[in-house]
Amino acid sequence: MSITWPDTGLCDAAELLRGTAEVTVLAHVQPDADALGSALALGSALRRRGAVVRVSFGAPDTVPESLRFLDTAGLCVPATAVAPTADLLITADCASAERLGVLAGLVPATIAAGGSVLVVDHHVSNTRFGTHHLIDEHAEATALVALRLLDELGVALDEPIARCLYAGIATDTGWFRRASPEVHLIAARLLGAGVDAVAVGRALSGARPFAWLSMLSSVLDRARLEPAAAGGLGLVHTAVRLSDMVGVRMEEVESVVDIVRATAEAEVAAVLKEMAPGRWSVSLRATSVTDVAEVARRLGGGGHRQAAGFTAVGSVEEVLDRLRTALAVP
Ligand code: AMP
Ligand code: MN
Ligand code: MN
Repeated sequence: MSITWPDTGLCDAAELLRGTAEVTVLAHVQPDADALGSALALGSALRRRGAVVRVSFGAPDTVPESLRFLDTAGLCVPATAVAPTADLLITADCASAERLGVLAGLVPATIAAGGSVLVVDHHVSNTRFGTHHLIDEHAEATALVALRLLDELGVALDEPIARCLYAGIATDTGWFRRASPEVHLIAARLLGAGVDAVAVGRALSGARPFAWLSMLSSVLDRARLEPAAAGGLGLVHTAVRLSDMVGVRMEEVESVVDIVRATAEAEVAAVLKEMAPGRWSVSLRATSVTDVAEVARRLGGGGHRQAAGFTAVGSVEEVLDRLRTALAVP
């Protein structure tokens, strides 16, 4: 990780946090551990300093079950309970205001009311939609950027805050497979604050309902390998239909891409997840040379070089055709 602060300085961002009595912290829709962990770590620290804090996200209505162990202070509120404007709005792990879903309107509303919007993120595609930006596109996780801010604020890392940060870093680095030596040292610091790595791993990916196995069985059986796709580097894909999702949580649906992406014959993996009949959220992963953030951008989405996504409407074949075309662009 290399920290550069081309936008708002760390000092100015910390000053903004110091001066605020009421703050709303938002993660992206369908929050992952990096988005919600970063939001809760920042929210907990501000609550400890005496601020009124609400943490939320546009969808779903409740905190995903596997992430509930992060909200020890009970900071999360449903999107409907978020005030329409805030003195300070912080977004975590959101590359654009659209990633806030139904809460996207809070950004212009807060700015129009004279409040500040601090964007804390690590996406190269960040559109810089706030009034203040703490963005490090080289950081492996937003949680690492959030930690820099907490250190600047002088916050002592207690176990609940360290747990939130550890969860974000662990998941965004693929359980430290894509982590630099510096990130391993930061993880050691978080473990030193009392984080139980086994418990975090179990909550996030090691405690799945039995129905997960039959869902995987159907979905993986339909996986197809297209060796000629992605400029001859190979594409592997499958779809998780609404009918496959009975008895499993979104967490299990999200787990599929991590299995599919391990296919050695394919540079690119795609998993189509049916969010509503004919409406798909597509996860893209790349092994080496392909920039799937660029591929996703061509299809209206975004993300990182090796992990990106987009949404699409149509049949599986129609969505795959659009993907094949986007992958074929040199
Ligand atoms: P996912 O496949 O959902 O785990 O997402 C992988 C990455 O792609 C995340 O870091 C997101 O930032 C990004 N991403 C996923 N879906 C979208 C989307 N519809 N629009 C923009 N970025 C997305
Ligand atoms: Mn995320
Ligand atoms: Mn992230």
